[in-house]
Amino acid sequence: MRTLVARRLSCLSSSAIATWATALAFIAILLAGWMHTKTTVESQLHRQVLTVARFAAERTAIAFDSVGATLQTIGDGLQADDLASFHRLAPDQRLALQTILIRARGRNPGLVSLVITDPTGRVLAGSPFHADGSASAGRRTDISPLMQDERHDPTVSAPFRDPTSGMWLVRITLRISNPGGMTAGMLIANVAIDEALANFFSRYPLAEGDMIALHDASDRSLTVVPKNSSAGIRQADEVDRVVAGALAAERIEDVRYLTSPNNGSVHLVASRRLAGYPFYVVYGKNVDAWLVKWRQEQFVLALAVFAALIVTAAITTGIQRRLTLTGQLEKMRGDLENSNTALRSTLATAELLAARDQLTGLCNRRNFDQRLEGAIARSARHGDRFSLLMIDIDHFKNINDHYGHATGDDVLRRFGEVLSERLRQNDIAARWGGEEFAVLADGANLENARLLAEQIRESVAMTPFPPVPRVTVSVGVAEYQEGESGDDLLRHADKALYGAKRNGRNRVIAADSNQTLKLQSA
Ligand code: GH3
Ligand code: MG
Ligand code: MG
Repeated sequence: MRTLVARRLSCLSSSAIATWATALAFIAILLAGWMHTKTTVESQLHRQVLTVARFAAERTAIAFDSVGATLQTIGDGLQADDLASFHRLAPDQRLALQTILIRARGRNPGLVSLVITDPTGRVLAGSPFHADGSASAGRRTDISPLMQDERHDPTVSAPFRDPTSGMWLVRITLRISNPGGMTAGMLIANVAIDEALANFFSRYPLAEGDMIALHDASDRSLTVVPKNSSAGIRQADEVDRVVAGALAAERIEDVRYLTSPNNGSVHLVASRRLAGYPFYVVYGKNVDAWLVKWRQEQFVLALAVFAALIVTAAITTGIQRRLTLTGQLEKMRGDLENSNTALRSTLATAELLAARDQLTGLCNRRNFDQRLEGAIARSARHGDRFSLLMIDIDHFKNINDHYGHATGDDVLRRFGEVLSERLRQNDIAARWGGEEFAVLADGANLENARLLAEQIRESVAMTPFPPVPRVTVSVGVAEYQEGESGDDLLRHADKALYGAKRNGRNRVIAADSNQTLKLQSA
């Protein structure tokens, strides 16, 4: 895998790597920024949920506390005499007690009922009265468990349902003792749990979709808010159920997401114990809107990342393709240059071959013709003089016959060398055909050309051509006359050469200015 990545990377150009690095850094910054924002908002929500749960728990506890405080106040204000046994209690005393209780209920809306009993549990006075007007007076309340409680603080019972209203109640009792420490009576208050919790929400209404519930220590749901709208009840019930499960598993103090199994709505939930009471407030904040927002942002982010990757891939592919093309073009250009050079040298060789005689390396006849035409043109323009030498090897046929054709070739090659050595830079020597040669003596008048021919003849006669003992040449010389053609000049030189042959060979004959033959040497 690593080698694969390394191979892939090695294929990339540095600019493509830089582009990818920039794109990935951009994506990383984008993701990190979004994660940071989401985490910040989430932790704010967590704090908010915890704060509301804690605050609700505090306020609910205060509602219970205030009932206890009310009982304490009433208890403190009663004399032992006020709590004579039911039968001995005078009507005005009962009325006074009744008044106290009514007032106390008036101050505590959570107080569903409040009674005062004698030590045996007989109700001395109560609020409210029963519908039949007999009040609850005289009814016996089972206070034996309460009697065993030696405490003088208000005692909170386990929650119970009121059989008539179906409301969850909690009973708060306070023992009233006489100066001897004996129980003089009991104050018994039934408190509506709903009211205790509502105490908080009268001032801090719940946001749409949020819910709050009160549970007892056995995870029984005592009340749920909101309960007015049907949607609210449904939602609250769901969360309530989920939260109850969570509470049973552990007494959660932290914040967690809980999803409703019915409609999938998600709450951020925190629970708090009421200080001094075996109840738990559970607050759930609906975070559906946040989740939708985050999901949308996630989608947009994914699109942005995808787009960035596509664009980067396109750019780097373009870069790579351009580089490949440039490389290919460079290579093609190199190849082209190479083949051009090769072609040029081939052409040069071909031109050389086309212009040269293969055996002697001298100009060939075609090339010589062109040079002759050039010399005639120059002469016409500038009046330059030049002469032509026609050289023929004497009795060459005999050489071939005696020594073989290969030796004949060697003689021709050697003769070419001797000829070249004798010529000046601007002179042109050519193999005219067979064992016949032509020389264009540049700038030479007839006399100069004749002397040159003589030197050539002498050199050849002096040069050994082993195994041939002696080789001689006959030379015909003619100077170019103004207005002549190349053929004219050649004919004159040829004629002179013919004269040299006829006059015994190994000699030079120059045509005079009238192109009449002139014997030069024998
Ligand atoms: P003359 O003195 O009158 O010029 O006599 P010659 O024998 O030199 O002249 P001739 O024209 O009779 O013979 C020329 C010979 O040159 C005939 C031919 O076979 C030979 N020859 C022509 N070209 C070549 C060549 O390239 N190589 C060889 N070895 N022989 C060649
Ligand atoms: Mg010959
Ligand atoms: Mg010949």
